[in-house]
Amino acid sequence: MTKLNSMQTDNKKRANDYVHEVYELVKKRNPDEKEFLQATREIFDSLRPVFAKHPEYIANGILERITEPERIITFRVAWEDDQGKVHVNRGFRVQFNSDLGPYKGGIRFHPSVNSSIMKFLAFEQIFKNALTGQPIGAGKGGSDFDPKGKSDREIMRFTQSFITELSKYIGPDRDVPAGDIGVGKREIGYMFGQYNRLKGGYEAGVFTGKDPNHGGSLGRKEATGYGTVYFVEEMLKEKNLSFDGQTVVVSGSGNVSTYAMEKAIQLGAKVVACSDSGGYIYDKNGIDLDTVKRLKEVENKRISDYTKDHADAEYHEDCSGIWSIPCDIALPCATQNEIDEIAASMLVTNSVKAIGEGANMPCTLEAMALFHENGILFGPAKAANAGGVAVSAMEMSQNSMRLSWTTEEVDEKLHLVMKNIYVSCMDAAERFGHPGNLVMGANIAGFLKVADAMVAHGLS
Ligand code: NDP
Repeated sequence: MTKLNSMQTDNKKRANDYVHEVYELVKKRNPDEKEFLQATREIFDSLRPVFAKHPEYIANGILERITEPERIITFRVAWEDDQGKVHVNRGFRVQFNSDLGPYKGGIRFHPSVNSSIMKFLAFEQIFKNALTGQPIGAGKGGSDFDPKGKSDREIMRFTQSFITELSKYIGPDRDVPAGDIGVGKREIGYMFGQYNRLKGGYEAGVFTGKDPNHGGSLGRKEATGYGTVYFVEEMLKEKNLSFDGQTVVVSGSGNVSTYAMEKAIQLGAKVVACSDSGGYIYDKNGIDLDTVKRLKEVENKRISDYTKDHADAEYHEDCSGIWSIPCDIALPCATQNEIDEIAASMLVTNSVKAIGEGANMPCTLEAMALFHENGILFGPAKAANAGGVAVSAMEMSQNSMRLSWTTEEVDEKLHLVMKNIYVSCMDAAERFGHPGNLVMGANIAGFLKVADAMVAHGLS
């Protein structure tokens, strides 16, 4: 063995030992937080070649530091329903990393919200936000409040109570929340109004995802879904393919799903299925997006109501069955772990060509492994759904400059950001010995940016 080879072997061993040791520590410190451990596992597996090449990150304890949130705020949210009954929910804000800028990440209202889910989302946000190239750190927040079936006034009272406490910890240069599952422009509007009342001023940049008539950016609503499709378009080009003429399945029918469907259709694809948590619809003629938008954005109805207007369409209970529908491109845009190994093997058997993660961590580690083994193009969430936060950062810039860009300007910038993210992921994957592996590429490219800033900023 030459001297160089033996040094490389030593460095590899040191990197593997380091990653193993820190993962054991993270497991010990966060027992039972399965989503958080899943997200850290994926990152750790990607970073071995980085530590082998960069021992300075080991010396600076970057992995130990990057997996421990700077701050977690947990608080009581008491509110009164329309009958005068008092309810108590739990609020969270995980301020994970501020080395690249103010904490930035959405707020989720869903009964499943807990510390593990908040931490995995905030952790993923570190790398995603770094990939955008914008000056933003990472956070995530939310509550186990269930908005389903609540009146508009109940939503208002809950969000006002939630933000009354959280207002102590956020601000345009400190922590800038946005929407996520169960939080759209209405909820952001209530939070923004209450925040400004409490502060006695108008701090436009404290939230993003605001109504474009009241300080929000044009194109923000569409950004995550459009961005996911732009990213997958770049992936398809590697195989001389495009969206034109492809059959697409998109899970969910919320913000990300709706605009992923819209862009895929604009690019010539036929979207045949979408879902909500109750079940999925299959329309062999192609989903009529106007009907979905009316049902979900205007009438607050269930996706099952689609069949009332489209007699040819089928409705099936059990949303996970959506992955049994043959398609060329699958865009999971609903929630975490919605594609497990069984769903993944159905997609593989049906010759799926590409997967683009619109939701956060929608594929389990086993599902991802299966896609890789079968050579299926795979766009990981940190890269593929970064368009939303990228346009949120653009909203912060517009608020600071007190001006508004047009929809076309925002879309053009979004398209460029998604192309750049794709190139930096491919480049990092190549440089660290895993050409074409976008999971490795996204994790490494995002990590390098934050790790360098953490080294530069000294121990914290
Ligand atoms: P929405 O609340 O607008 O929509 C969520 C959709 O997913 C709804 O159709 C919902 O159905 C469905 N859904 C929720 N839980 C489940 C479940 N367990 N099984 C099946 N379907 C489910 O949320 P968003 O579109 O904003 O977010 C979707 C995903 O995208 C999340 O993972 C989010 O973190 C991620 N994301 C969002 C961004 C954004 O800009 N909004 C940015 C980046 C990522 P139902 O109405 O029945 O609950």
